[in-house]
Amino acid sequence: MIFSYSRLSLYETCPFRFKKKYVDGYEEIETLPLALGKGVHKAAEERLQGAMLEDSLISGFIEANFHPDLQKDEMARLVAKVPVKRLEKRVLEIEKHFQLPLAQTLNAPIIQGYIDLLTKDGCLYDWKTNRVPYDVTSNHQMGLYAWAVSQIFGYDTVIATLSFLRFRKEDKFKYTRREMEISRKWAYDLAIEIDMKVKEVMIFPKLEMDIFEPNPSSRCGTCPFAIECYYKDQKRSIKQIQ
Ligand code: SF4
Repeated sequence: MIFSYSRLSLYETCPFRFKKKYVDGYEEIETLPLALGKGVHKAAEERLQGAMLEDSLISGFIEANFHPDLQKDEMARLVAKVPVKRLEKRVLEIEKHFQLPLAQTLNAPIIQGYIDLLTKDGCLYDWKTNRVPYDVTSNHQMGLYAWAVSQIFGYDTVIATLSFLRFRKEDKFKYTRREMEISRKWAYDLAIEIDMKVKEVMIFPKLEMDIFEPNPSSRCGTCPFAIECYYKDQKRSIKQIQ
């Protein structure tokens, strides 16, 4: 399996949901926030390449598969807040894809990702459409992306910025090799754990819930596997009591 920050993060949130989605390959229905994020990212990409706002919005709608609840006004408001003027002269790469081994060992897990914007002076930007801003260091996404940039370009420090478009608010952090290594290690340890569990569940498929344990949280409300999870977990609890 090729890992990504969002896959690892989903595993951390709920191993059973991760298993259903990425091991068994069940699709999750695209939610409005996800479609909005996809559309805005595509439009932002085109704006930074010189496209007019209106044209970029059309590309955004196509990218979001014309999600029925997607509002043009909302998307336009968010895309208009991408700081194109301030950043266009510094652009090195837009939507930079990386795919790297997480260690220098044979068969090390591979991680991939897309960096929304990489500047000539070694800064990276990630556009966020969230309704609640958060601290850039509150998870490992930017630490991992900074590590990837440092691997590719040999930088000792990388400044990563989360740009919360809704609020015109930016949160940035200067990652040194030490912080990047913490995020790499986080990703490496989780990827190794997942790889082991995938092998284990192939041998013992009936133990899927013991191997990939459900982790109920406020996110269960949007989980497409909730019914299966509930019934299987009930059966498992009864067996454990017996
Ligand atoms: S319902 Fe909740 S606990 Fe069950 S798989 Fe979904 S997110 Fe995990």
